Amino acid sequence: MLKPLQRLGRAFLNTVFPPTCFLCGTSHRFDPPNADQTLRAVEQLTAPYFCASCREEIHTIDSPLCIQCGLPFISREGEDHVCGDCIETKRYFRTARASGVYDGALMEGIHVFKYGKKTRLARPLGTLLKETFFRFWDKQSIDLMVPVPLHIHRLRERGFNQALLLFAKWAESENISCDPLVLKRPQKTAPQTNLGRKERKKNIRGAFELLSPETIKGKRILLVDDVYTTGSTVNECARVLMKGGAAVVDVLTLARAVEK
Ligand SMILES: [Zn+2]
Ligand SMILES: [Zn+2]
Repeated sequence: MLKPLQRLGRAFLNTVFPPTCFLCGTSHRFDPPNADQTLRAVEQLTAPYFCASCREEIHTIDSPLCIQCGLPFISREGEDHVCGDCIETKRYFRTARASGVYDGALMEGIHVFKYGKKTRLARPLGTLLKETFFRFWDKQSIDLMVPVPLHIHRLRERGFNQALLLFAKWAESENISCDPLVLKRPQKTAPQTNLGRKERKKNIRGAFELLSPETIKGKRILLVDDVYTTGSTVNECARVLMKGGAAVVDVLTLARAVEK
């Protein structure tokens, strides 16, 4: 909540320099949420960056969902349970959770952040990720946060690891250890984007290498990525980490693809 003076200052700045929405580019007035407003947490967190109509288009993921992979079920009634996919496919991670559905404004935001190199978006998107982390875990249940690594060529091309940028700052201030050098991606794999479920799994197999097994021995690891599509990338990372001696691997992503 903003103090009255801050509110006034913000109102003044809004009039003189109306902020533009990071996603659709329209100038919008940022009206700080009042106590009586019932905005969803996701809308409050992204308010200074996205306009109201873009914010409304962020679809959060709520129960009922798959206990393991976090897939939201189409039927909005009933209890959480294990989905068919998780029964059929061996998962090396324990649970995966995401801030929202990979569509609408969240998808747009991730694209702009990643490919448009708007690293300023790391702040609102990272805050969303942080909120999700504290909704499903507590600090004491995680020993180490690890981003899904990029191949060195892609890292050079992009200039940053988008996953790391989404949590490095807040993890540090919350005293949660993170290590971006645990895993390496020595193999340059074809982009997963245009591949089906089976091809993705085959394409990613053997793409990761464990660089420092001593860092992860017996540790509870939280693997972080921007998007969970079929889960094949995080599953392959989790496989390598578990094989290397991790106690447990959980997965946190900003968005999750949901087939419609
Ligand atoms: Zn907008
Ligand atoms: Zn599942």
